[in-house]
Amino acid sequence: MRHFIDKDYIHALLAEAQTTSASEIDEILTRASLMKGLSHRDVAKLLQIKDEGQRQTMRNLASQVKDKFYGNRLVLFAPLYISDYCKNNCTYCGYRRDNDFARRTLSIEEIIKEVTILEKLGHKRLALEVGEDADHCSMDHIIETIEAIYSQTGIRRLNVNIAATTKENYERLSNADIGTLILFQETYDQARYYEVHPASLKGDYERQLLAHHRAIEGGLHDVGGGVLLGLSDYRFDITALMIHNEELLERFGMEFHTFSLPRLMPAYNVSLDDYPNLISDEQFIDIVAILRLAAPHVGIILSTRESKEMRDYLIQHGVSQISANSKATVGGYSDEEQVSQFSLSDERSLYQTIYDLIADNQLPSYCTACYRRGRVGKVFHEEVSSGRIAKLCKPNAVLTTLEYVLDYGDEAMQKIALPFLIKQVNAIEDDQIRAVAIQFYTRMLQGERDLYL
Ligand code: SAM
Ligand code: SF4
Repeated sequence: MRHFIDKDYIHALLAEAQTTSASEIDEILTRASLMKGLSHRDVAKLLQIKDEGQRQTMRNLASQVKDKFYGNRLVLFAPLYISDYCKNNCTYCGYRRDNDFARRTLSIEEIIKEVTILEKLGHKRLALEVGEDADHCSMDHIIETIEAIYSQTGIRRLNVNIAATTKENYERLSNADIGTLILFQETYDQARYYEVHPASLKGDYERQLLAHHRAIEGGLHDVGGGVLLGLSDYRFDITALMIHNEELLERFGMEFHTFSLPRLMPAYNVSLDDYPNLISDEQFIDIVAILRLAAPHVGIILSTRESKEMRDYLIQHGVSQISANSKATVGGYSDEEQVSQFSLSDERSLYQTIYDLIADNQLPSYCTACYRRGRVGKVFHEEVSSGRIAKLCKPNAVLTTLEYVLDYGDEAMQKIALPFLIKQVNAIEDDQIRAVAIQFYTRMLQGERDLYL
């Protein structure tokens, strides 16, 4: 079947991009400075950047785009693994079926125990993570989990990262009011895709590639894409990710809500020596900067696979969401000893992550206002393009961080955070919005919660 990823076309584009001249790169960077995004053709060319001066200009521009669209805000979340059963055999994953270990699916009661621990730390946004095995973790169990978390805990947004599924199942997820449906293509290179996903449900390239289409047709508005960097030539994968983004925009009037850019990590019975396409830190920074320039409105997610130093740098150059205090194991927050899906680098607590961000002049955000006010999908795309949403993000970030500081922070946290938050409120440009923010801020100090614009 023909689909929107044409490998010959992308290879031809990448071959042509190798001859990109310095003046062409300059021209693309000048267009990028208008902050209206770039095409996949531009992306293919920027991925060839070699001149150090141009590389620095590109990263500086990405910083400016980040600043214009996201300011110093950074959304925080934690992953929640509920089952490590998997019928797939993804060569890179600790959960693949050939790995022999005692697997588990958490009961609803155990899930609520995990979420309660996360809630006590101050988390408000989670991403549900599951292997693919309907016999041990059915869609019924996933839906029941979502309903239980929303009704029994204070979690306000539950994103879902599960295997590609049917339009009917996406309808069920939509009715259960999930936040973003996250699914990575892993690699867009079809031949490589078959190599790393041998004989399995996930081994169906098109099932994966067209999953976001089915999800949108099933009623989901926010869908997140991504690639697992290290599986294939990253230039191919990032160009293809942009083509995928353009396809969603053309067909449904909405872009990806987020890009995830995990880099391949060591895992149980997975050696990085078997993967010749690993990418360096410098290449990774370029990728984040290029995507920030190409799709200013698409959030970029970074997980705790990356070190604190790398995360700090990338936050300045394009990343808009990070996980914090994560465990990539089933029952991990209750300190259960399960096999991890892969290893993690940044193991700071949520408290320490928030403290460090504020000390670094970054504004953490637990905002869930857009999704709760129906600013999702196409509406989100229009509102964000008009600049209307941007005005509301800062006050909402301040209010959710204030909530965290009052409810979960200690004296040391309050000492650093309260003056910082007041400064942020006073810096809100729009008089009306600033007045409402100050009013909400005061009401929250007096004990009210969950106030947002
Ligand atoms: N099992 C579902 C799937 O594969 O689509 C749900 C997501 S899985 C729990 C989350 C993601 O972890 C995968 O999509 C994959 O990109 C990533 N992952 C797997 N093994 C990894 C590794 N060794 N290093 C980094 N990321 C990995
Ligand atoms: Fe299973 Fe997902 Fe791991 Fe593949 S990446 S083995 S589908 S958990």
